[in-house]
Amino acid sequence: MNKQEFFQRPKTAAELLGGRTVKHAGTNIAEKVAELSSNEGLIIPEIVPEDFESRLRFLKRGDQVVLDVSQTESDAIYRGMTPNAAHQIAMRNLKPGQYCGLVWRSLRRNEWKRLTLDESIKGTKLFAWTELTENHIETEPYNDFANVGFYGGKFKFWVPSRTPKQERYKLTAESVPIVKSRYNPVIWTDIGFTHHCEIVGNDFSYRYVKSEDFCAHEVAALEFLAKDAYRRNEYVAKGNRVPFDFLPFPVPTEEMAQYHEKLMTRIAVQYKDQNGKQKKRPLNKAEREILLWDFVRLRGYGPTFGPKDKKVQEYNWAA
Ligand SMILES: [Zn+2]
Repeated sequence: MNKQEFFQRPKTAAELLGGRTVKHAGTNIAEKVAELSSNEGLIIPEIVPEDFESRLRFLKRGDQVVLDVSQTESDAIYRGMTPNAAHQIAMRNLKPGQYCGLVWRSLRRNEWKRLTLDESIKGTKLFAWTELTENHIETEPYNDFANVGFYGGKFKFWVPSRTPKQERYKLTAESVPIVKSRYNPVIWTDIGFTHHCEIVGNDFSYRYVKSEDFCAHEVAALEFLAKDAYRRNEYVAKGNRVPFDFLPFPVPTEEMAQYHEKLMTRIAVQYKDQNGKQKKRPLNKAEREILLWDFVRLRGYGPTFGPKDKKVQEYNWAA
């Protein structure tokens, strides 16, 4: 499978709209994106200006969807809250608004953990691609298994890059639930990575004193671990569902994945440049995030991030 094609990303209006029947939408954009058939493209007005300042301000200061992970460690243990349950509650109760991502407060270190749906879906696509090709993700435990029931496991990962420039990213993850434990509802909230890339490295990381923004590489790594732990018996036992049940990142359905692909490849934003000339460009990250949350509000949790009847590597990733 060709890497460039799988991750292709049109950069010009001609690439976005060329050869397609072009429609326009000023309101109810998510609905109109969802309704696009395979030979159609869409032009929309600017919803977040492209200049770096505006985009950055929105991603830093826009409304966030806050996950209910409980207030205290004992409350989390008592409620047995899984990330999945927290995603469900948040997504079923979305108020109208423009959202810039989801966030939760870690229970042990009191850090804010931030994730965009955009990175969550891109990470799932990266994981799917590594499963479909010879470019596998690799992992190994980083510590012995004493106290993993209390602190979670530490793992090293090597994740292939989506661009030709870089070969692989190295990551370490800690506070990963890996064995059955009453502390898992606490452990997952503190999940953290040591990793550097262009996504983690810039854009929006200083909203809070202590915060961590997750990227697609980290999402792909944990989705791989969930699969790997189930398949192998080195960590604990074969058929281990714990890392899967405590995946902190929402995994998209095929419908959601295809909606995201449409946003990436067939939507053009019309704007005026400094000379007042009409131009078109692809959606920026802030705009994609707003339209992803609009789709969750429109379709609800089930069709967007709910139970799946397919593996993500079996999705049709072409929109
Ligand atoms: Zn990264």
